[in-house]
Amino acid sequence: MAKSKVAYHCTECGGQSTKWQGQCPHCFAWNTLTESIIEGKSVNRYASIAQTSTLQKLSDVETQNIIRQTTGISEFDRVLGGGLVGGAVILLGGDHSQIAELMNLNAQTVRNRVSNMLLES
Ligand SMILES: [Zn+2]
Repeated sequence: MAKSKVAYHCTECGGQSTKWQGQCPHCFAWNTLTESIIEGKSVNRYASIAQTSTLQKLSDVETQNIIRQTTGISEFDRVLGGGLVGGAVILLGGDHSQIAELMNLNAQTVRNRVSNMLLES
């Protein structure tokens, strides 16, 4: 959320001050400072390390066919969009029995298939 700041501008010289004073610190005129709100930029603490990118039309985005390695577990391959992609990291939550239950397989089969695939790649 953007934080607003208050500034005081002199109606005589246009000078700016961060706090209200009876006398302008620039031109020394009396009772000439008026309050104004300065909208702060919304900056989060990660803004300095965040990457920026330009907008592209979807039709301008280049696509490439990625070779996917099927696991032999059809439901798992379907969830992965057709199989594993080299260099991809997939996080499965839950223990082996939960994952196996979701895929309707036994836990040892899942463990062996995934382990074999990790060894092959
Ligand atoms: Zn002034």
